[in-house]
Amino acid sequence: MNKNSSNIMALAPNTSNKRETVCIFGTGDFGRALGHKMIQSGYPVVYGSRSTQISNLIPKDAEVLSHAEAAQKAAIIIIAIQRQHYNFLIPLAEILHGKVLVDISNNLKLNQYPESNAEYLAQLLPGSRVVKAFNTVSAWALQSGTLDASRQVFVCGDDVEAKQMVMNIVRALSLTPLDKGSLLAAQEIENYPLQLFPIWKFPIFLSLGLTAFFFFYCLALDVIYTYIYERNNFSFFIAITIPNRVCPVMALILLALVYLPGIFAAIIQLYRGTKYRRFPDWLDKWMLCRKQLGLIALAFASLHVVFTLVTPMRAFVSWRTSKGIISQVLNNKTEPLSNTNAWISDSYLALGILGFFLFVLLGITSLPSVSNNVNWREFRFVQSKLGYLALILCTAHTLVYGGKWFLSPSAYKWYLPNIYILALIVPCAVLVVKFVLIFPCVDKPLTQIRQGWERNPKHSEQSNYIINKSAV
Ligand code: NAP
Repeated sequence: MNKNSSNIMALAPNTSNKRETVCIFGTGDFGRALGHKMIQSGYPVVYGSRSTQISNLIPKDAEVLSHAEAAQKAAIIIIAIQRQHYNFLIPLAEILHGKVLVDISNNLKLNQYPESNAEYLAQLLPGSRVVKAFNTVSAWALQSGTLDASRQVFVCGDDVEAKQMVMNIVRALSLTPLDKGSLLAAQEIENYPLQLFPIWKFPIFLSLGLTAFFFFYCLALDVIYTYIYERNNFSFFIAITIPNRVCPVMALILLALVYLPGIFAAIIQLYRGTKYRRFPDWLDKWMLCRKQLGLIALAFASLHVVFTLVTPMRAFVSWRTSKGIISQVLNNKTEPLSNTNAWISDSYLALGILGFFLFVLLGITSLPSVSNNVNWREFRFVQSKLGYLALILCTAHTLVYGGKWFLSPSAYKWYLPNIYILALIVPCAVLVVKFVLIFPCVDKPLTQIRQGWERNPKHSEQSNYIINKSAV
């Protein structure tokens, strides 16, 4: 009997867990969206506004009072107002004394002011406990419920208790608080929403530069050279032929560039005999954008697949096929099937299909929703082992397809190598060095170093230690 009643007690809602009233200053877009979400999560909300008239836009169940009246009703006040209006808070300093003020503001430009908005607020109201939060969440995402991609809420502040109170609200709204430390971190947090694809910059610029280079390279050799020396106008190659040469080359080179920094890291660690010394900055940055390089490579590979699939529809291809048939008819001679050619074409197609399949698998496992569901070992297996296998297959695909041009003098127009030879330099270099690195005599010391062993511990004690992320 007793046991049953205790179970019932455990299942009954905890009525004492009533949420505390939260005050929001400002009934603008963000104030309304946040208030709406808070009411849904069980918080009584009171707005402090210049106008106490209730409009249809304000969430039902919320009260709208003057700033002073609203502030008196809550211990936490969210300042949903632009920084340039913060002066109006000075006369309220006494009422706001000891209260937790949540600064959610953003600026229009990076480092727009000498101090962060949150530090500015703390200077204006030294008696209040200022916490920075919510600025990386958009009003639209709050209102529409599309917060999946931005569930993290960065929180910082000097008062630990105040920060904890704000983090509890963040959790209650089904978001994830991420403690960034003291209010000194506010400037960095305020800069986050103003950054435009920061990790993508290097991969995008590199891809654009290489694409432009290879495009003009092909244009010179396949269109301009042919026009000058053979009087053939192949300018239409610009639409499909050249892009279908540039895309696979880019996909292969970028995939190799995903694995190249890991090779450099291994060589550096072997040379230094320790993992406790920082990699050069350029290598650190390169390692951080490997996923982006891989995704751009996948985009190029997908374009190559689409361009290849439309090949039979092209007028040039139908003309070339019918020309071959007509010449056989005119000569009254059927060309026998070359077994070697059939093998070559089937082999490079099979290698390409398998390589592309693994490429797609790598792309899928890099999605946060998938990578969150595999453990570190599984993730490493796919990204490292299967990734290298994808690189081997794609390199072999290019070798088998482009190999016929390597020794042919006609491929060296203007003494320049064919684009497929250029495409193979980086991937082959990566694969050869990787092959050397997996030799037991090299792999053993490298594994030991990555497990913390040092060849010369005394030397590394004197240096500035920062543990490198072990390279995949
Ligand atoms: P908003 O729509 O322009 O609303 C700002 C509110 O501030 C106004 O509705 C007004 O509320 C109040 N206000 C305006 N002038 C004032 C003055 N002179 N004195 C006192 N109060 C004044 O702006 P918002 O989009 O809600 O953004 C508010 C803050 O949230 C900004 O700092 C912004 O950077 C930050 N934020 C916005 C978003 C977003 O998606 N919108 C996302 C993250 C952070 P009353 O009329 O009720 O007084």
